[in-house]
Amino acid sequence: MTQHFASGQMTSSQPYFDLVTELERVSLLKSSLMIMGWDEQVNLPTGSAAFRGRQNSVLADLHHRESTSTKLGDLIAATEAGRDTLNDQQKVVVHHARRDYDKATKLPPALIAEKASLDSEAYHAWAQARKDRNYSAFAPFLQRQLDMSFRMAACFGKTGAAAYDYMIDQSDPGMDAATIGKLFDELSAGLVPFAAAVMDSPVKARRDLLVGFPVDKQESFLREVTAAIGFDYNHGRLDRSVHPFCSGTGLDTRLTTRFDDDQPLQSLFGSIHEAGHGMYEQGLPAGHFGTALGEHIGMGVHESQSRLWENQVGRSAAFWKYWEPKYRALFPEQLAGLDSDALYLAINAVQRQPIRVESDEVMYNLHIMLRFRLERAMFLGELAVKDLPGEWNALAKSMLGLDLKHDAEGVLQDIHWSGGAFGYFPSYCLGNMIGAQLWEAARRALPGLDEELATTGGAPSLLKWLRQEVHGRGKQLDTPALVQKVTGEELSPKALLRYLKGRYGPLYQVS
Ligand code: ZN
Repeated sequence: MTQHFASGQMTSSQPYFDLVTELERVSLLKSSLMIMGWDEQVNLPTGSAAFRGRQNSVLADLHHRESTSTKLGDLIAATEAGRDTLNDQQKVVVHHARRDYDKATKLPPALIAEKASLDSEAYHAWAQARKDRNYSAFAPFLQRQLDMSFRMAACFGKTGAAAYDYMIDQSDPGMDAATIGKLFDELSAGLVPFAAAVMDSPVKARRDLLVGFPVDKQESFLREVTAAIGFDYNHGRLDRSVHPFCSGTGLDTRLTTRFDDDQPLQSLFGSIHEAGHGMYEQGLPAGHFGTALGEHIGMGVHESQSRLWENQVGRSAAFWKYWEPKYRALFPEQLAGLDSDALYLAINAVQRQPIRVESDEVMYNLHIMLRFRLERAMFLGELAVKDLPGEWNALAKSMLGLDLKHDAEGVLQDIHWSGGAFGYFPSYCLGNMIGAQLWEAARRALPGLDEELATTGGAPSLLKWLRQEVHGRGKQLDTPALVQKVTGEELSPKALLRYLKGRYGPLYQVS
């Protein structure tokens, strides 16, 4: 436990010491639940699902009780009473312990139970509605989730338009709708015309030529790549699941991917993406496990780490200078029809298409901004649930240049709203902005980065820099403060626009 006090100003605060011990216990429970969740998606025999449900429910109940216990509340209060004896890092721990405790205890248990059953009902309604391409069957559940969000926000004194800020704060502490709205307006002003020009370019990537890649070879290649960029397989694993994810903690990080013989780049970049999430977790200070000093800042920063490795690094010419010969040696026939330029273009393919999760990094941000506008309008009372598909389709036309055929490729495509996860989408785009800002700052600090990528296929200096500047800080700064501190600039879409124009402009002969 000594590491909790390692920052110099030793105090003999017993309540603080006890608080940290308690927070660690609660986090150990939570991490056990996460590993069980991973196991459920990766290993669980189908016939054991109901048994796992019972195990989960007991452990989840135990975790909830421990994280809302009077003992924990008393420890937080006692530590707050002795606040003057705490150093700055300890104050961060106590601040977040209070925040999390209030979050867990201010919602009435009946409301939590109601929400859990609504989530499950709404999920099934959404899945069926998507299958049937029938929005009106899902609309009542969406309305109930919206109402539920207002009721939850009200428990924290957030009413009216502030309810959406409450939702955003769940994913990205320190952010709100007004700030995000301003950032997105600036981004879309620059990106909408540029993206349209790229998509209309006569230069076309040929991803369709990448077919017949045996899965075992794909897997050995992506394991080599993810290890080279720094994912620690000694404290982590990569397995297969239907939906790829990164779970666990930095002390035991679980990545998953999925394979398709005819979509080799999808698993490769999906795995680099998840490894980026995993490397963030692995870079959090292990000695502070369970406290805010050992936790990630928020979803936006998490996404910045995955995107930076996936896109800025993984799709760069320097990176492929190292990996292309190895890729060709593994798949000589499959790649025979593409010369180096064609392969690089396929890696950086931009395509006008309706589905967010299949989008490239140029289109992706437009998909997110579309969702943000609609969510915000619903929370402001400017858009009724019944009018959502019409508005969605109109924005798909004006922002993405798409005429949608049905709601399954529009408003019904994402799972998020069925679970009431409003305010979550903006994190993806914030992650792209932050990733681009960090990338610029890293390149200023590390002038030999391209050379390193081209000769080693990894970037130890970049990882070390990220560990120092981002991972090692835990939650000491919120998202805007971290960006300001590390890059010397405010959170802004300018770096992302520069990056996208710099990479895709020349490739697609667009200025
Ligand atoms: Zn991600």
